[in-house]
Amino acid sequence: MKIAVAAETRDGEARVALVPELVGKLTALGYDVAVEPGAGMHALLSDDEYVEAGATIDADAITDADVVVSVQPLDVDRIRRLRRGTATVSFLPTTFEQAVVVDLRDCGITAFAMELVPRISRAQSMDALSSQALVAGYRSAIVAAGMLRRFFPLNMTAAGTVQPADVVVLGAGVAGLQAIATSKRLGAVVRAYDVRAAAAEEIRSVGAKSIDLELETLEGSGGYAREMTEDRAARQRDLLTPYIAAADALITTAAVPGRQAPMLVTAAMVEQMKPGSVVVDLAAETGGNVEGSVPGEVVRIGNAQVWGGRNVPSQMPGPASRLYAQNVVNLVTLMTATGEGSAEGEGGTFAPDFDDEIVAGSCVTHDGAVRHEPTRAALEGAS
Ligand code: NAD
Repeated sequence: MKIAVAAETRDGEARVALVPELVGKLTALGYDVAVEPGAGMHALLSDDEYVEAGATIDADAITDADVVVSVQPLDVDRIRRLRRGTATVSFLPTTFEQAVVVDLRDCGITAFAMELVPRISRAQSMDALSSQALVAGYRSAIVAAGMLRRFFPLNMTAAGTVQPADVVVLGAGVAGLQAIATSKRLGAVVRAYDVRAAAAEEIRSVGAKSIDLELETLEGSGGYAREMTEDRAARQRDLLTPYIAAADALITTAAVPGRQAPMLVTAAMVEQMKPGSVVVDLAAETGGNVEGSVPGEVVRIGNAQVWGGRNVPSQMPGPASRLYAQNVVNLVTLMTATGEGSAEGEGGTFAPDFDDEIVAGSCVTHDGAVRHEPTRAALEGAS
């Protein structure tokens, strides 16, 4: 059985789907691991390190592989080079990548999407959304602290006291809680708001004050938020305005699965911020929590510098790759049958069990068909 690690080709993607320290986990399952040349280069991992770990370097690694792992979905040219029946494991945002899904289906590829791994306890070690949100949340706080031309912490000196920065975080999921915890560690005074009822306690548990707007909470299924009505969104914006006007740094991380990011902060709200304020919008790529934010750019709105996130986990490619690779290896391990009584390193076969809810839930295409129901419905609606 052969597993190939694809070099990422999409603009700005610096991560890699397998790191040398995890090659041994796959060879122990019975896989030959082949890595495309330079695959780890942007994450500062050399081809030699992969070879020392037991992999081979092969420019043609994907063509005869049983499984191809990558961070971003493979592009169409490369999908067409795969054998029918090959499995791919990558992020695959089906809403935005319909053309790729069609090609995967038509080429008979069994495609697994890391963002569709169900968020159940048994799948926590395969939860790439969480691992990458952790990186993005940390980075958002560091970016805010770096852009702000003042201290985050309180400083009491003989020459006088320096007041700590006021940070507001909107959205307290995995990324938001990490942004809060990192800002706290740097000494800022942090306030945070989330629409889910459970979030208030989670916000307090990482040391921030929970902002209570006395609005109804919006619990959706599976611990996620529900979308707001326009009326509630407007009230939420009105009530948040004074908190944002008082903040030195605003970090936004709010999302609703499968939808555009909710617009939580208008340009007029940002215009009320003090000179020198900074805004970090982690949701810029999916529509933005802040009106006027641009992914990958810093724009000026009123007195504030507004930083729009673009593939933020890739900005820390080493740790992001290590965490992602661990998620991928755990998912591949779940789908590998090692055979009863077989010695380690012998007899591993890639054999996804579609009765397993993790396997079934994360599979997008298999055997010429789209198995992920919402994607199939969207494709039928589009044709
Ligand atoms: P996410 O990326 O989908 O959204 C980020 C946050 O934005 C969420 O907390 C959401 O409530 C919030 N939000 C949405 N609309 C908002 C609005 N209008 N105003 C303010 N905030 C808004 O979330 P996530 O990080 O993926 O986590 C979502 C939930 O999933 C959490 O309850 C988390 O604990 C849970 N979770 C469970 C598992 C697991 O069981 N394996 C793993 C990770 C996360």
